[in-house]
Amino acid sequence: MEVKYNPYDNVLEIMDRAARMLELSENDYVTLKYPERELKVSIPVEMDDGSTRVFEGYRIQHSSSRGPCKGGIRYHQDVDVDEVKALAVWMSLKCAVVNIPYGGAKGAVKVNPKELSKNELKSLTRRYTAMILPLIGPEKDIPAPDVNTNAEIMGWIMDTYSMFKGYSVPGVVTGKPIEIGGSLGRREATGRGVMFMTHEILHRLGLPILGTKIAVQGMGNVGGIAARLLQESGCRILAVSDVSGGIFKKDGLDIKPILKFLAEGNGKLIKDYEAAGILHITNEEVLTADVDVLIPAALENQVNSQIAGRIKAGIIVEGANGPTTVNADRILEAAGKRIVPDILANAGGVVVSYFEWIQNIQFLTWDDEEVNKALEKIIIRAFNEVWDKAKENNTSMRMGAYMVALDRIVKAKKIRGIFP
Ligand code: GLU
Repeated sequence: MEVKYNPYDNVLEIMDRAARMLELSENDYVTLKYPERELKVSIPVEMDDGSTRVFEGYRIQHSSSRGPCKGGIRYHQDVDVDEVKALAVWMSLKCAVVNIPYGGAKGAVKVNPKELSKNELKSLTRRYTAMILPLIGPEKDIPAPDVNTNAEIMGWIMDTYSMFKGYSVPGVVTGKPIEIGGSLGRREATGRGVMFMTHEILHRLGLPILGTKIAVQGMGNVGGIAARLLQESGCRILAVSDVSGGIFKKDGLDIKPILKFLAEGNGKLIKDYEAAGILHITNEEVLTADVDVLIPAALENQVNSQIAGRIKAGIIVEGANGPTTVNADRILEAAGKRIVPDILANAGGVVVSYFEWIQNIQFLTWDDEEVNKALEKIIIRAFNEVWDKAKENNTSMRMGAYMVALDRIVKAKKIRGIFP
């Protein structure tokens, strides 16, 4: 039986194991078990019908030892404080594993944004920004998109912050529209990183890219783009899903028309998609499909101990943050599955956020070739470091990634010391 899943306990447990393998003393890393700052806010919104609703929001900064805190903002009806804390820790680890000079943070608002009109969503975003204003800024904490947030919402955050300052501050947030300082390549960056990581693990295992069978859970900004780029690189995407269910095609789905269909809006979902040769299947059938690579790119806790034993894919590339529970991870490891862990597999987004921030604070613009090349270099270097660390220590890539990241954070902390 799976005990009630708490993502924060999950991340602390893996961190403890990595610390033991690094032979760290409790003193070296005890501070990392506690986020530096946790801000809970109440966000009143005047709804279109004249009523007032109050939403709960958070901004949690886990660590600033290696640089300004960095991490997205998600809008989801089920978020709670432990989830945001876990997501903030994952951001610290993610930035450290790819070695960009940031700490980690995360924000969230407990809301189903699909139930709000555009005006209500804008008011919510502006008021949330005003409430977390003392914490954020280009030199201290830089939000970005996450689940159910996008470039338009980042634009509202940038504008609200700038109005308080009295001048434009594009570097306060990343993932903005290009017209106001967003970076080319940012929207696709997480999916592109997932593609690079999939290619790299196949390469390391001596497997071909061409014809590789893949299943993708989640058709949002991460899963949708990863599926498209992987198909374009010669892989066959056999199954995909979103919240409404999945679709399957034996000789491979054509991803572009699916994304076009989903982007049409007015609630278009995978369950409504029809094309020749397509079978409608459940989300569970997507996760357990007979493929070479599984990419969970939806929410946390999707690959749990009930599912893990039935996964047929030999390789799992974690597009989402925390998609695998600790128990499921043990089952998968025992079954010899190769897992490219979330903090490495989905780090492409924050790497290009870093490039966006660099451009903003220096008033520069890079072209997309520059962005994609620099992303590839950073993410492949990180893959190699994690691969080597795992090999040296005869452990999984997840543990290798945690070891590389933890070591960097702990070293920075030690050099700086504790104030006062
Ligand atoms: N939300 C993304 C993540 O979980 C991106 C964060 C960022 O770009 O700051 O990695």
